[in-house]
Amino acid sequence: AKARGRNRVALFEAAMRAESEQRLTLERDLAGAIERGELLMHLQLQCDADGKPGGAEMLMRWQRADGRFVPPDVFIPIAEASGLIVPLGHWALQQACQAWLRLNAAGHPLPLSVNVSPMQFGQADFVAQVRAVLAETGVPADQLILELTEGLLIKDRDATIARMHALAAIGIRFSIDDFGTGYSNLGYLKRMPLYELKIDKSFVRDTPDGGDGDAIVRSILAMAGHLRLRVVAEGVETREQAAFLAANGCPVMQGYLFARPQPLAQVLASLEAALAA
Ligand code: C2E
Ligand code: CA
Ligand code: CA
Ligand code: CA
Repeated sequence: AKARGRNRVALFEAAMRAESEQRLTLERDLAGAIERGELLMHLQLQCDADGKPGGAEMLMRWQRADGRFVPPDVFIPIAEASGLIVPLGHWALQQACQAWLRLNAAGHPLPLSVNVSPMQFGQADFVAQVRAVLAETGVPADQLILELTEGLLIKDRDATIARMHALAAIGIRFSIDDFGTGYSNLGYLKRMPLYELKIDKSFVRDTPDGGDGDAIVRSILAMAGHLRLRVVAEGVETREQAAFLAANGCPVMQGYLFARPQPLAQVLASLEAALAA
């Protein structure tokens, strides 16, 4: 029995070692991914209750040389832990501005939402970086919405809020992503120059249930209404969810029911097709 126990420990240790080696390999490969052209941005349209697109979220994709995609839920945490998220996030901002220029040139000036990690937002020169990207591309600041998570406020709360105000002053808009899943002190909401809340898909998934799931989403919608914040529901997959959200006044929806995250070319084609229809 003792030998078997030792065996199991050895197996466990081997598995741990394999996992941390895999992480290190991914981290090393990710560090060169931009240069090798393996990163791309997909866009997921956000629609009103009638299905009319009013914006899109930029979502990063990593396609390795063998063609396989590494899921963001795998590589984004590695990027965050290693600090690589700073250059990757900067690249994502540049890509968003390039995408906006192409959409605008095609007659679809849709505001674009970009995910910004706490570490990226915490860079001393973040405001300057945003200004530089806007100046280089000529994209109006009010066409970018930065999606932040509640985790942003764990460190340096005052500096973070001051930085948000500095960016809001030039026209940048802010969204709280995955609202309701993180740091749950609502007092900070008042102090931040917010434009939008995104209802996390874990809450949308539970609607309509005629019970607690509905109550949570209704409460978020009511609170956002009182604070005059726009709401985006994410992860909308079914007609029933969309009908429930629309009936409760949710103005914007994002999810597979309306559109998948897609390369820009496909998004442009679907916008053209919708116009022609
Ligand atoms: P997120 O910001 O909450 O993005 C929404 C996620 O929900 C995306 O996953 C999207 O593909 C997925 N999604 C959209 N509609 C549906 C739906 O109807 N059902 C379901 N089940 N899922 C849906 P994705 O693209 O895998 O990204 C995962 C996370 O990775 C993102 O979650 C975000 O936290 C992070 N991420 C992605 N791109 C970036 C980026 O450029 N920068 C940073 N910092 N994080 C990023
Ligand atoms: Ca997001
Ligand atoms: Ca989200
Ligand atoms: Ca999420």
